Amino acid sequence: MKNDNIDLLQKRKHCPSCHSTRSVPLYSEPLSSHGIKSYLEQQYNGRASLNFDGYTFELVQCPNCSLTYQMYVPTGRLLSEIYDVWIPNSAREELQGFHDIDYYRYQSEQIQFVIHQFGVPPDSISVLDFGFGWAEWAKMAMAYGLDVTGLELSQERQEYAQSIGLKLTNTQELTRNKFHFINTEQVFEHIVEPHDLLVLLKDSLRTDGVIKISVPNSSGSLRKLKNTQDFSSLSPNEIMPIAPLEHVNCFTYTSLVALADSVGLKPLHPSFCKLYNSSSGWLEIKNAVRLAARPFYRHVFPKNTFVYFIRA
Ligand SMILES: [Zn+2]
Repeated sequence: MKNDNIDLLQKRKHCPSCHSTRSVPLYSEPLSSHGIKSYLEQQYNGRASLNFDGYTFELVQCPNCSLTYQMYVPTGRLLSEIYDVWIPNSAREELQGFHDIDYYRYQSEQIQFVIHQFGVPPDSISVLDFGFGWAEWAKMAMAYGLDVTGLELSQERQEYAQSIGLKLTNTQELTRNKFHFINTEQVFEHIVEPHDLLVLLKDSLRTDGVIKISVPNSSGSLRKLKNTQDFSSLSPNEIMPIAPLEHVNCFTYTSLVALADSVGLKPLHPSFCKLYNSSSGWLEIKNAVRLAARPFYRHVFPKNTFVYFIRA
């Protein structure tokens, strides 16, 4: 697997969740195939110009913990190419005007849930927004008076966070803190070694702490890919949870819970009282229906991949 004499991808030696060395092949297609090439062109507006001849998009499933993952993951060189060049940092302007009131309501519900969960004054609750992006969750937590720290690799996003007064930390300093709550939104699907990251985050959590892991649910996409054996049959929404090169871990509820279990965490089943107490907007009919349904589909039916975890 050589390309310009520098490796772009490397083969994983074990399951990134449970470290089993066994794997069952699920799907395989050259990264330079027409279907994947045109996906990369569209997804990154023509910036994904590297030559992927000789490299493979390969999905395998771990027979031990059921996680489906990409067998070949980007090396450091390709990671910086993807996250510094293909995905422009100026994307924050594109978000302007994109979010409606429901988006902010939903963010605020999550923060209110955290405050209810610990039952202490907001300013004595310390939270970490891990991989905070443009700090949307962190800003809402700050507005409610929580003690908020953020961690993010991108320099430009760090600078933005500092400009709005968000405290920053890094992975070396992380475990010096013991947070009440850690937020990870669309993080774990990107991580080459998610098990190791979750160990680190658990060590940064108080004994009664809670960690939120929210990742794309890949069940539907994997089912369709298994049936059609054709990447180009997937719609953009179906590609997203298994996106080549980016979403290297393709979680379902079962494999997400197995990952947490492997580090001694278990799902928290929040009380409906707390969940309903944290929601607003009940006087609008359309909204009320959704508000009534959300705690059920989010925390009762074991299908979705937004889970609050506590120590087992
Ligand atoms: Zn596994």
